[in-house]
Amino acid sequence: MAALPSVDRLLALGHTLVGEFGRQETTRAVRDVLGVWRTALAEPGSKAPDRATLLRQIEESLRERAVPSLRPVFNLTGTVLHTNLGRAALAEEAVEAVAAAARSASNLEYRIDEGKRGDRDEHVEDELCRITGAEAATIVNNNAAAVMLVLNSLALRREVPVSRGELIEIGGSFRMPEIMARAGCRLVEVGTTNRTHIDDYAAAIGPRTGLVMKVHTSNYVVEGFTASVPEEPLAELCHRSGIPFATDLGSGALIDLAQFGLPREPTPTKALEQGVDVVTFSGDKLLGGPQCGLIVGSKEMLAKIRRNPMKRALRCDKMTIAALAATLRLYADPDRLAARLPTLRALARPVEEIGGLADRLVPLVASALSGRADVAVTECQSQFGSGALPQQRVPSLGLAISPRTGKRSRGAALRRLAKAFRELPVPVIGRIRNDEFVLDLRCLEDEAGFAAQLARLEPKP
Ligand SMILES: *Cc1c(COP(=O)(O)O)cnc(C)c1O
Repeated sequence: MAALPSVDRLLALGHTLVGEFGRQETTRAVRDVLGVWRTALAEPGSKAPDRATLLRQIEESLRERAVPSLRPVFNLTGTVLHTNLGRAALAEEAVEAVAAAARSASNLEYRIDEGKRGDRDEHVEDELCRITGAEAATIVNNNAAAVMLVLNSLALRREVPVSRGELIEIGGSFRMPEIMARAGCRLVEVGTTNRTHIDDYAAAIGPRTGLVMKVHTSNYVVEGFTASVPEEPLAELCHRSGIPFATDLGSGALIDLAQFGLPREPTPTKALEQGVDVVTFSGDKLLGGPQCGLIVGSKEMLAKIRRNPMKRALRCDKMTIAALAATLRLYADPDRLAARLPTLRALARPVEEIGGLADRLVPLVASALSGRADVAVTECQSQFGSGALPQQRVPSLGLAISPRTGKRSRGAALRRLAKAFRELPVPVIGRIRNDEFVLDLRCLEDEAGFAAQLARLEPKP
């Protein structure tokens, strides 16, 4: 067997790598690379590598392992709030607030003026009440947790009537009937899949009822011969019967999106005006903030919710609270909201602006693919995502990349193309539509960063 240098010899030669990655990691990489070569050299007639080759392989191994698992990507899927891609991107103000909260000690549960213990909710409660008109507010880990906590706090071992048209499943195994059972409540199905009337609720309410719940059917629509009971009469019925009334709004646009030229979504403000006692919604959907679940409503209900020991198990960390507080502050200035909040900025982005971007990128992408594919501007339809406004599409523009191959090898060529874009330093995630690989440019803000890495598309022709 041809001689390989010793581990110590390679560590000495690669001292700059030791400086960058540390002795332990570099030793691991050296051993790995030597191990592979020892096996290879056991074959008769094989040739030992030179030192430069060994060092290059050691460096490659180190760089590969140093790439973090969780990292930024370009979301060009056309789904603005993509759950698998982290939903809402935070505003710069929120990012800075997270960094500040993470970097040092803070008054997370401490009242500076009084020098006494405080509550972490205090950093967001006033602002949430101001925006929604609620008497009180709290936050937990996500909206699923918010729904769970509301049910468990207000209706433990009691019945909860819900319309059969609203027994939803949200992606990731959030099914209303199962959440009810786990929260310790007995679901009472009301009405039929397509039609539920106020009398159905009236018949379902009795001495064992703990809470009436309405669920915003955020990810599907019931169409045709349908009827559901609006909040107002249902609130009236609940209050006459002395039963609290909760609504799970899900996507929960905090303010009316119509002012930004977008479709209208029910807001917590409106629900509270209509007499709902407790409203739950997500922080990282249309609100455009961090993952969390918001609960707003009456003082009395919120006091019960806060007393539940489960609240402690579902609480948010300081970085989430910092991000949410900074995001909520942006809502105080609606005129600049669409410019500062990335979710809204993407959704309200004028299609002409996206068109300009597309025109500039076509020649760059075409040249990076150097004749392997045709690139053209294409019309596409962006979606809100995360179950928000499932029927609504926002017209957008993108790049349609079409491999120059025969019909039979087209599927494989498209998959290779999609993979090549995913393997860029900042992975580009698009989607395959019909016979093309499509990049919806609505969410592309870092044009320069996108263009700069195109030269690294592999394989080269
Ligand atoms: C999205 C959604 C949920 C779950 O919210 P998470 O923040 O993802 O936990 C619950 N209910 C409705 C109606 C939703 O749209």
